[in-house]
Amino acid sequence: MSFKSIMKGARSNIKRAGSCIKNVGSRIKSASSSIKKTGVSLKSAKAHIKNADYRLGEVWLSEKKLKSSFYKVRSELRDMGLLSDGSKLDNVKIIRETFSYDGLGGMFGGVYGFYHFDDQNIHIPTIRTAPLDPRYPVRYMVDILRHEFGHALSDKYPYFFNDEVFVGAFGNVCGAYKVAKDGDEKNYVSDYARTNTAEDFAETFLLYMKHRGKLPKEFSRRKAIRIKWETVATICKDIAKLKK
Ligand SMILES: [Zn+2]
Repeated sequence: MSFKSIMKGARSNIKRAGSCIKNVGSRIKSASSSIKKTGVSLKSAKAHIKNADYRLGEVWLSEKKLKSSFYKVRSELRDMGLLSDGSKLDNVKIIRETFSYDGLGGMFGGVYGFYHFDDQNIHIPTIRTAPLDPRYPVRYMVDILRHEFGHALSDKYPYFFNDEVFVGAFGNVCGAYKVAKDGDEKNYVSDYARTNTAEDFAETFLLYMKHRGKLPKEFSRRKAIRIKWETVATICKDIAKLKK
């Protein structure tokens, strides 16, 4: 064997060894990514279980929980100047019903609650099927009440909801259930807000209350939402200035 052929063999062995090392490296990489993925799915499985557990716990609404949520939301309304003794939103009561009704006398499994335009109170079911439906978002009781108080506000002060500033931001709310004219999701604070103008206002009002008037960062670059937010702020401040 010549020196030249020995060197050639050695070189090809080194090359082969290098490609083996490379192979092992890529296997380790894919194994570690599988482990990582399993970790992620384990995490998401845990989150699902936790979520399902929470949803199950939400089917029955205790009076204690409803009361504590109601008091919390009322204190927020008082801070905003939207509640005075015996006037403004002070007389809106919570009617606790066994099941969900749609306000028209029919039973409606997927309703978390609603503001009844006839008796001007908020109706909340004790036994709720909505939390079990994965199509519905998980909703905290305080948020449900904040949303419903939004409807109560527009019902009590229709004047503010028919003026051109409001209509320019949200569209026409005359008749609570007109379909929103523009369904582009980036213009709405939630999926439910896209239902119609009244729901759009109630959803925006909910967040306005929740965040104490401070626009969450996720919405700061969305012009239509910024305009709606400003409109809610103006309406709330104007109503706060009223005597009743
Ligand atoms: Zn609503």
